[in-house]
Amino acid sequence: MRFDVITLFPELFEPFARVGVTRRAFESRAVDVRLWPLRDHADDTYRRVDDRPFGGGPGMVMMVEPLVKAMAAIRADQAAAGHERTPVILFSPAGRPLTQARVEALAHSPGAVLVCGRYEGIDQRFIDGHIDEEISLGDYVLSGGELPALTLMDAVARLQPGVLHDAASHQQDSFSDGLLDCPHYSRPEVLALPDELAMPGVECAVPPVLMSGHHAHIARWRREQQLAITRARRPELIDQARAAGRLSKQDEQFLKTLL
Ligand code: SAH
Repeated sequence: MRFDVITLFPELFEPFARVGVTRRAFESRAVDVRLWPLRDHADDTYRRVDDRPFGGGPGMVMMVEPLVKAMAAIRADQAAAGHERTPVILFSPAGRPLTQARVEALAHSPGAVLVCGRYEGIDQRFIDGHIDEEISLGDYVLSGGELPALTLMDAVARLQPGVLHDAASHQQDSFSDGLLDCPHYSRPEVLALPDELAMPGVECAVPPVLMSGHHAHIARWRREQQLAITRARRPELIDQARAAGRLSKQDEQFLKTLL
């Protein structure tokens, strides 16, 4: 799959190409990321890409023409590479909130063009002419669409086959079955800290069921932890899981005990 990213700040993407899961994804070519610096498509000698808003008001607006030219360059490149036209996503607080379901759908798609806004946002005519979908990271305002683009590509990259060291690990993540994740523990089995590092009120031993070697009991404990945490923190996700038929009779019985 490929992501074509239109951005004023391509250098923000470099560290992610060098480290961790995103590096493995990008290097493996499972995710082909191409950066399209918007300034390359500005036509006056000042390489201007933003201008004052008509009607007045604070801030600057990203101009429509450089964006249209960048899109044309991307379409030409996709055609030359024999790659199909991918949908165009704009990051915006006015978009639909990003969900794991959307990430999974994208992970199984040919990719997308990602448009990173800056300043007050982009000229509406580019949105009307080219944008297929607007995605928000949440109800707060960032200074640019680059972190949202990196967020989306990170979430998609870790779902690519062979990119995570343990292929099963993302099947256990929060949201993969509509519920939040259970707690995790590793060595030591019983924590013995010197007084000055003590954590009052924290149980020093790992929950015994995890040491039992009994796989069915462990799976049940984890499922119940997921249900209890999700019920306490994000009750609407329980309703959604129920509506999607993802709760078993046993799950429902356990949820009743929480009331
Ligand atoms: N004036 C705009 C905010 C512009 S912030 C408004 O009030 O809606 C500049 C850019 O940052 C936006 O164009 C968008 O690409 C990005 N951005 C800011 N907050 C975002 C969010 N919550 N989700 C996705 N993108 C966001």
